[in-house]
Amino acid sequence: MKNKPKPRVLVVEDNQANLELFLDILELGGYESLHTTEGSEAIEIAAREVPDLILLDIQLPGLDGLSVVKTLRSMPATKDIKTIALTAYAMKGDREMFLQKGFDGYISKPIAVKGFLQTLEGYLQNAE
Ligand code: MN
Repeated sequence: MKNKPKPRVLVVEDNQANLELFLDILELGGYESLHTTEGSEAIEIAAREVPDLILLDIQLPGLDGLSVVKTLRSMPATKDIKTIALTAYAMKGDREMFLQKGFDGYISKPIAVKGFLQTLEGYLQNAE
C-alpha cells in the first residue's frame, strides 16, 4: 500500500485540557492537526489550509460554533469541509439540529477515547 497523506484535522476548542486531549489522540491516530481556540481564527485557518475535517466546539468565547459553521458554509473555499460539532450538552434531537445548522455530525464531550478515532475515520471515509 502506498503511503497515503495524513488527513489534516482542524481542532477548534477553547478549553485547554480538552484541546490537548484532542491533539494527543489525533497524533496517536496518525493525523496531522491544526488548532485554535477562537472562532474567527478558525474561519481564517479553514479558508487558508482547507483541512480534511474540522472539530468545532459549540461554546466558544466571541464567535461561537454555530456562527462559525454558518460562515464556513457560506464561503466557496470552505463550504464542503466536513465539520463536526463538539458539544458538552448532547440532548435528544441534537443530531437533527446540528445537521440543520450545517454540521456533518456531532461528538459529545467528554469524549470516549476508544471510539473517537473510529468515529473520525468514519466521517473521513464518507468524504471520499
Ligand atoms: Mn468551549
